[in-house]
Amino acid sequence: MLHDRTLVRRLLLDESRPVVVAAQGYRQDRPEQPIEYRAKRFVVASGYCWSSHLLLLSANRRFPNGLANSSGLVGRYMNGHAFISASATIDAQTYPGLNMTHSLISREFFRCPVDKPFVRHDTRVWESSSGRDPRLRSAEGRLLLGNELLEDWRARTTGSSVRLRAYVDVHPSADSGLTLDPQKTNRYGDPMPKIEHRLDAPSIARQAATREHVLALFNTMAKASNGRIVSTGAGDYLDHPGGGCRMGTDPSTSVCDSFGRTHDHENLFVVGAPTTPTAGCTNGTLTFVALTLRSAGEIARA
Ligand SMILES: Cc1cc2nc3c(=O)[nH]c(=O)nc-3n(C[C@H](O)[C@H](O)[C@H](O)COP(=O)(O)OP(=O)(O)OC[C@H]3O[C@@H](n4cnc5c(N)ncnc54)[C@H](O)[C@@H]3O)c2cc1C
Repeated sequence: MLHDRTLVRRLLLDESRPVVVAAQGYRQDRPEQPIEYRAKRFVVASGYCWSSHLLLLSANRRFPNGLANSSGLVGRYMNGHAFISASATIDAQTYPGLNMTHSLISREFFRCPVDKPFVRHDTRVWESSSGRDPRLRSAEGRLLLGNELLEDWRARTTGSSVRLRAYVDVHPSADSGLTLDPQKTNRYGDPMPKIEHRLDAPSIARQAATREHVLALFNTMAKASNGRIVSTGAGDYLDHPGGGCRMGTDPSTSVCDSFGRTHDHENLFVVGAPTTPTAGCTNGTLTFVALTLRSAGEIARA
């Protein structure tokens, strides 16, 4: 049975063994009535932010730094991919506005040859109607109606604009972190999470060369359709965030194993975005789904 509108606030440990025995929380509609779940196994699947948050909130006398946190790495190595984008005009006719939400994606740069400087990214192109939508006023501010509007629109839909984007593989530093912020609390008085993303030194050192590589590729793509780049940009945040409970084989450098089983508590699993050590170079959800199915098999075997 799925219980919706239910917020889990804390995981409780057995008195003598380091296993989780209960999850406590509230129905959002009945905050005055605490609710408690007891089970043999617990799976934290609360996303990159709230999974670490819940483990840190569940600190107790024996685990004062939070559950699953003997490595000190819960809420660390928070990650995501950086991105570089551009707009280009091209000669081809793509009928602006007809197919804006669907992109074409290339995996050509998912892998990096070992004898080349490290750069990994996806490459994506969308048709764009930017500057080519119908408009009620001309560039000079004159009202356009009827045929005048259509003529103005037709003139601007000759040729096409495209949006280009690359999600770039960047790696977090250990202090790329989620911490509990006592200054901000939710309605139950629990401290809210505060996330500060930081890249590791090699990722920072690669930034200029990566940008040069990606923009050269965008240029080549635009030229292939007799076009030109008209603007470029870069994200000031990391997209598709993950991390905080990274997986690994060594309990001193990771929070859980590749099945999501936490090193500290044999009946506590973490699945989904929090377990990724890095965010890779393209949208991760299908990978999270595949890994979670793998975890489900392991949990069922247990
Ligand atoms: C706007 C947007 C667009 C995106 N587009 C894409 C895309 O195109 N492709 C792609 O691959 N990815 C995309 N992503 C990323 C993708 O949504 C996530 O990577 C993915 O959902 C992570 O899966 P998850 O299961 O780890 O966590 P989530 O899907 O975040 O699930 C966590 C669940 O836990 C619940 N929860 C949290 N805390 C508690 C608690 N204390 N008690 C009870 N329940 C709790 C939450 O309500 C949520 O339902 C997008 C994300 C956003 C925000």
